[in-house]
Amino acid sequence: LLQLTMPLNFLGVLYREIRQSLTDLARLFDLLQQPLEVRDAPDARPLRVSGPPEVRFEDVHFAYERERVILRGVSFTIPAGRTVAVVGASGAGKSTLARLLFRFYDVGRPGDSAGAGRILIDGQDVRTLTLDSLRRAIGVVPQDTVLFNDTIEYNIRYGRPEADFDAVREAARAAHILAFIERLPQGWQTVVGERGLKLSGGEKQRVAIARTLLKDPPILILDEATSALDSVSERAIQGELRRLARNRTTLVIAHRLSTIVDADEIVVLEHGQVIERGTHAALLAAGGRYAQLWALQHSAAAAAEPVAAAAGDH
Ligand code: ADP
Ligand code: MG
Repeated sequence: LLQLTMPLNFLGVLYREIRQSLTDLARLFDLLQQPLEVRDAPDARPLRVSGPPEVRFEDVHFAYERERVILRGVSFTIPAGRTVAVVGASGAGKSTLARLLFRFYDVGRPGDSAGAGRILIDGQDVRTLTLDSLRRAIGVVPQDTVLFNDTIEYNIRYGRPEADFDAVREAARAAHILAFIERLPQGWQTVVGERGLKLSGGEKQRVAIARTLLKDPPILILDEATSALDSVSERAIQGELRRLARNRTTLVIAHRLSTIVDADEIVVLEHGQVIERGTHAALLAAGGRYAQLWALQHSAAAAAEPVAAAAGDH
């Protein structure tokens, strides 16, 4: 019997681990399955960059399902080391842009990429690159970071598994979570996640920031990285995110406009098209859609602020 149950137990553990990592990968962009057609081309080459690269979306069209078009010719360029923010209503296609850059999907309609545009990293079409080299070059801080049911050390080290402990510790320090970790009775060996210590939204985002600092990718995607936080935690994390973005080519997706006022360019997406672009100041002066959204959020924020302040951090 023992001979039979041992492997079964082992399989159970293995199954849970695989499922957990898949969950993490999937939740990364809140999508549930990776389409099978995204795989290395037979002649795929590794991405070659020296320093933060230029990222260019060129007339990108996309549909998850043939009959429902999500992106209709989106073009913008993030110059090397700069930050471009994409804003727009929920469902506009913002996260889809991030998924295409990360190559969870390819441009075009399912099975048809003719005339669908392209995404270039320092001139290299992402479809010609090995997925491994592409994804190693991109760090993602999502809205809701999923932690593994493992130690806090494991969760941070995940960014670069071969890193030595000093580097892990340094990343935690830079993400302002080191003191918190060292105060825990079990310190670095504290198990976190669903079956361990539950971290607050702000603490989870600091783990995600530490993980990404350790990974040290030249390209960064912040997909509504602070939108799950109350406004007090959000303000506390903004500084670390700004530091994380420094010297990386950064795509910021934001619902709350207060977080992207200092982006080098802001792109306003509506129904899968760019309807406005410019700096915060220029867009406000233009008095268009962005100015409208800004005014709307400002009055909403002013009304919500006393409540959020009274509720405090959790
Ligand atoms: P945003 O991030 O701007 O809120 P998304 O890019 O996530 O919007 O989604 C754009 C549209 O694509 C939405 O209408 C959404 O329902 C749809 N969508 C997102 N993911 C999928 C999917 N895996 N399959 C089909 N439709 C999807
Ligand atoms: Mg989104």
